[in-house]
Amino acid sequence: MQIKAPKGVADILPEDIFRWRYVEDTLRNMLQLAGFDDIRLPMFEQSALFSRSIGGETDIVAKEMYTFSDKGKRSFSLRPEGTASAVRAYLEHRLYIGKPETRLYYIGPMFRAERPQAGRYRQFHQLGAEVFGNDSAFLDAEVIALLMYAFEKLGLESLCLQLNTLGCKDCRPQYQKDLTAFLADHKTGLCSNCMRRSDTNPLRVFDCKNGKCQEVLAQAPSNIDSVCDKCSLHFNQVLNLLKGLNIIFEIKYNLVRGLDYYNKTAFEITARELGAQNAVAGGGRYDGLVEQLGGAPTPAFGFAVGIERLLLLLADKEIKKGEPEWIYLILLGDKALQQGFILQDELRKHGFAVRINSSNQTLKKQLKQANKLDAPLVGIMGEDELNRGCVILRDMRHGTQEELPVAELIDKLGTV
Ligand SMILES: [Zn+2]
Ligand SMILES: [Zn+2]
Repeated sequence: MQIKAPKGVADILPEDIFRWRYVEDTLRNMLQLAGFDDIRLPMFEQSALFSRSIGGETDIVAKEMYTFSDKGKRSFSLRPEGTASAVRAYLEHRLYIGKPETRLYYIGPMFRAERPQAGRYRQFHQLGAEVFGNDSAFLDAEVIALLMYAFEKLGLESLCLQLNTLGCKDCRPQYQKDLTAFLADHKTGLCSNCMRRSDTNPLRVFDCKNGKCQEVLAQAPSNIDSVCDKCSLHFNQVLNLLKGLNIIFEIKYNLVRGLDYYNKTAFEITARELGAQNAVAGGGRYDGLVEQLGGAPTPAFGFAVGIERLLLLLADKEIKKGEPEWIYLILLGDKALQQGFILQDELRKHGFAVRINSSNQTLKKQLKQANKLDAPLVGIMGEDELNRGCVILRDMRHGTQEELPVAELIDKLGTV
């Protein structure tokens, strides 16, 4: 039986790669403008890293992680997101030393055991960025603005920026109390999962996708009304800075993101075209996480972008492929093939992209193959040309050709 890729896991085929590069390069360039450094993080970590940071009651940790034991019976999990690993690496390698703040980004696959559907995969790709050591509202606004600008550059227009504040360790307990009291009063309308969460981790009820629960929760008290003065000031400052940059946003009171570590600013960027799975990016502040994972108290802010969802939005957009210059050598006869094989090697050493046709078929057949490969340039060498030390260079796009000494081919290619 033929083996296929696992469900919800997609191959990214050569014909689609230019779209991926376009998105990745645009985002990467934008982050480099703002001083972010590239970091490559591992695909799996000790399971405890995720349960301790993302939170044991979250859907991600409770239901969606790929967890396995190795031969030493240690528990590992495929990473469901990147922030936890970034914080771990930040602490493990002391990336804070000698820097007032640290800016990191990464691109790579993440893994969640969810029901696959459009824009949702079990192996999916995220670009994530994290800033450590800056507690200013200017940072929140700067990073959100940067992301909005990147989306604009990609040509995405109808995106919606939604913001909320989740409070801090001083004001969240009061909010949790209010919310718990509300949930206790509305028990009958809630699913069993929400009932359990209302005791263990009330904020997580907002992650519930059950329609009835959503109806009840629409009446729930808002975080924004109960945050402390400091949080309120911070949030308003973020909003004013965004207004100053002419960035349009809306406030979404029940936006909590599916992760426990967020505090103060939380945001999502959504696209109506994507339907239920409509968030293309999200993030926020997580000032307590570094300390929670064993570091010194360190304010932090980050976001993640879902690459597959961005690509879905860009599916109709014309993206220039960029045709690379290369030459295809058509060789007629054994001697020409031998010479062409050596020429291929020389051309590559001079930095030219080249492939030979080693079929030793007729000129007509080899030209047909050149056409199928979309070769922009073709070099033709038969016995005649060989005897004169020449090669015919044909420009397939313009239909022109000339004969020149093999020794001049390298110079000539440099000018094409
Ligand atoms: Zn607060
Ligand atoms: Zn529920």
